[in-house]
Amino acid sequence: MALIVKKFGGSSVATTEKIMAVAKRVLDEKKPGDQVVMVVSAMGDTTDELIELAKGITKEPYRYTREMDMLLTTGEQVSIALLAMAFKTLGQPAVSLTGPMVGMKTDSVHTKGRIIDIQPERVQEELDKGNIVVVAGFQGVDPAGDPVTLGRGGSDTSAVALAGALKADTCEIFTDVDGIYSADPRVAKGARKMKEITYFEMLEMARLGAGVMQPRSVEMGQLFKIPIHVRSTFTTKPGTIIREDYTMEEKDFEIRGVAHDEKVAKIAVLGIPNTPGIAHEIFSALAKASVDVDMIVQSIRNIEKNVTDMVFTVAIDDLSVAKDVVDKVADKLSAIAVLIEEDVAKVSIVGAGMLGNPGIAARMFGALSSKEINIDIISTSEISISCLIKSSCVKEAVNAIHDEFFPNGQEQ
Ligand code: ADP
Ligand code: ASP
Ligand code: MG
Repeated sequence: MALIVKKFGGSSVATTEKIMAVAKRVLDEKKPGDQVVMVVSAMGDTTDELIELAKGITKEPYRYTREMDMLLTTGEQVSIALLAMAFKTLGQPAVSLTGPMVGMKTDSVHTKGRIIDIQPERVQEELDKGNIVVVAGFQGVDPAGDPVTLGRGGSDTSAVALAGALKADTCEIFTDVDGIYSADPRVAKGARKMKEITYFEMLEMARLGAGVMQPRSVEMGQLFKIPIHVRSTFTTKPGTIIREDYTMEEKDFEIRGVAHDEKVAKIAVLGIPNTPGIAHEIFSALAKASVDVDMIVQSIRNIEKNVTDMVFTVAIDDLSVAKDVVDKVADKLSAIAVLIEEDVAKVSIVGAGMLGNPGIAARMFGALSSKEINIDIISTSEISISCLIKSSCVKEAVNAIHDEFFPNGQEQ
């Protein structure tokens, strides 16, 4: 007997036909005695459609994050009810439960809440009664009892966290690709499927934009030591296992993958005093507003006047809040101007193999320059290098970099 958590993303449950197909597949694969918890996302593009709906009221709905959560949590509630119904029509007892009902406790940071505790007793009770338990992903409840969502792609995190809390034997993420690839297979023509990837490398890929897994979900997997099997909803072939270490003969990869992120914006605060405490002033105000800042560059504008520019990137969904915060600080610092650019994208290479391998960065920049793509900002971590470029060049950039590091014939 095994306890299995299976998560199905939006495209896997996009129509009632697909929901029926998911229910049938799960029953076909379920062995007698298996206990199954399903975590599901909103149907198809429902979450995007709900955001568009809110834009009918205000151009910047993310200023009203509590109400956004009230709105967005409805999407998952529709799919859990329909999937539980689908099981029942097939003769399988099932029950649908929302995030609050499964004890998914979060902090109060609306639209990007973090799970602080899970009390899954109700889930276990329902499993012990013989039900398949169908749980709404992406949502939890804060200490005030208000709904909180976990950030875009948050159903992955709901699933892995539940698997951890229930001490599940396996956690499977079913999606519209058949595993993790060396780059987004919708963008890179030569992308290769991986058999395995470490939490460490996957976390960096996800953080830098590989939307197939939400970064928090990979952290949860690592925390609970749960291998995560990412696989296709539409075929039965094995996918990719995200785990602590490689179990197969380790290949000597220079890099593990290329990630890109188009949902970023650049903010430049021009002409601020080049004195101690200025960076703290700007970034602590942003942190207070729960805005994550990524690439940061400080450059000298005028040495004689001791004036500097501060340039950084934020997630596009945070832009309206970030702009308000930065405008206030810029006023206080008598900055010359605050400039915003939205037509930017970040392209990155990731891999533990690049540690101590100095030629890697030059090859990445060479691949970009061969396509005449200008680099605006460069940032690095221990296992990644990222470049900010014009968003119109992103597809070409991903392919050029991928071709450089994954020439034909190299297997994953
Ligand atoms: P779901 O709705 O099932 O959660 P997502 O759209 O969130 O699905 O994630 C799957 C998508 O992630 C794929 O369709 C693919 O375009 C994208 N993706 C980005 N990077 C990668 C990668 N390295 N490997 C596989 N898929 C990726
Ligand atoms: N429905 C949510 C989203 O589109 C959560 C998820 O799909 O994981 O972001
Ligand atoms: Mg997803």
